[in-house]
Amino acid sequence: MTETIPKPREGGAGADDASESDPLLLLAPLRIEARAIRRGLRNLAEPPAVTRTGYGTTRAAQQAGRLSHDPFGQMMIMGVGGGLSTDLSPGDLVVGTEVGAVTCESAPILVGELRRAGLPARAGRIATVDHLVRRAERAKLAAEGWLLADMESAPLAAAADGRPVAVIRAVSDTPHHPLAGIVSGGLAALRSLRAAAPVAERWAAACGTRQVLLAGPRSFCAGVERAIEIVERVLERQGEPVYVRKQIVHNTRVVGDLESRGAVFVDELDQVPDGATVVFSAHGVSPMVREDAARRGLAVIDATCPLVSKVHAEARRFAADGYTVALIGHAGHEEVEGTLGEAPDSTVLVQTAADVAALRPRDGERVAYLMQTTLSVDEAAEVSGALRERFPAVRGPGSDDICYATTNRQAAVRAVAADSDLVLVAGSKNSSNSVRLVETCERVGTPAHLIDGASDIQLDWLAGVSTIGLTAGASAPPAVVEEIISALSGLGEVSVSERVTTTESIRFGLPKEVRQ
Ligand code: SF4
Repeated sequence: MTETIPKPREGGAGADDASESDPLLLLAPLRIEARAIRRGLRNLAEPPAVTRTGYGTTRAAQQAGRLSHDPFGQMMIMGVGGGLSTDLSPGDLVVGTEVGAVTCESAPILVGELRRAGLPARAGRIATVDHLVRRAERAKLAAEGWLLADMESAPLAAAADGRPVAVIRAVSDTPHHPLAGIVSGGLAALRSLRAAAPVAERWAAACGTRQVLLAGPRSFCAGVERAIEIVERVLERQGEPVYVRKQIVHNTRVVGDLESRGAVFVDELDQVPDGATVVFSAHGVSPMVREDAARRGLAVIDATCPLVSKVHAEARRFAADGYTVALIGHAGHEEVEGTLGEAPDSTVLVQTAADVAALRPRDGERVAYLMQTTLSVDEAAEVSGALRERFPAVRGPGSDDICYATTNRQAAVRAVAADSDLVLVAGSKNSSNSVRLVETCERVGTPAHLIDGASDIQLDWLAGVSTIGLTAGASAPPAVVEEIISALSGLGEVSVSERVTTTESIRFGLPKEVRQ
């Protein structure tokens, strides 16, 4: 599958003739704004020029007519503007998502970059009007979904004519600090503008035509889909709040979304009121937690992935047969804690070959090993190899413990990493299988970064990068992948192709409590 996401062009001569090596066109309407931006750029070795466009819609439209024939590579518009929302403060930065009729897809990346620089930045729609907005009009524009108003950006942005364009406006006045306070607000805005200026240069360096190689399969696995559906169904039936012990799956987007719908995530059962319903997360729990819930009279709905339950059953079986169980996994991970709890006197966590050398089983002839489901296939093979070498009679699981989703996603990302300059892995930092995807790329020599969403993409990563591999961990929603592609398309034309190494059709049934 190959799909190109081009920027729509009106056909201006400048746009047709532009190339990536053409310079950044950095625009500021007023002299005072241009001066603040130049000050912010003065420490750069080769600061881009700042072009003044003049005040108001008429001058902006005239300038836009001239600019459309210029051979620039990308356009950044910076200046001050009037905040429309009551929760904005003077000095806040608004990065335009829509500016008049122009869409600026790279806004989430810019917001992330500005925030990492310590600046208060938000993405939102910017309206261009031909007069200063007053109280009633502010409220009307805010109600229509605009975050900021200015008097120049829309006609200027239209002149980009398909080339990458971005708008950063610093708030000078707000509904609570109207034009009467514009002097102090204006100073705060100019300070923010100056601090934000270096981001313009990094944004321009990150612009360019790119290829995105999508790894397939990626994103949600059957165990994660099942766990999310369980919480959704309990919410539908019982209404909020629905208590969930630990994060249902390790992903900030999923957890945030369910929280907004009434799920309450708790670390321990003592945070759940007596008699309430509690959902156990996909990572599983130890028998002690189940006993605690029963003692408290809690109604339990178990979202443990069936493939984690399988490992628990194996641990019980080996322990009952008198084996010392070496559990290959990562200390502190919830899944590992749950599995260790099944047979705590017989199970020992081994993380490395050195741990295997230090292992002191009761009987060297009765050693078995199991694995955390989300390990790196290569790393786990090293540790199980060390176990086989030291204990030739060692027994392993009946079928692989590293689950199909982990194995498939690692194979898929390996296939794209080899042909990529950089790999982006959508997933949260506490997601074991997502972290393993980053390590898989690094093992083949391709730099990779774990990101929760487009705002985590750092502009410096992208400079000079023409092919980006893209995947998502088993707990990361497919929508995040779309969001990342969209944000990259704001930096230049993106052609997307998918490499599918295998297809998945596994589905798990729901527990009886939520089946109907
Ligand atoms: S990653 Fe594997 S073990 Fe974990 S929830 Fe998904 S299918 Fe289950």
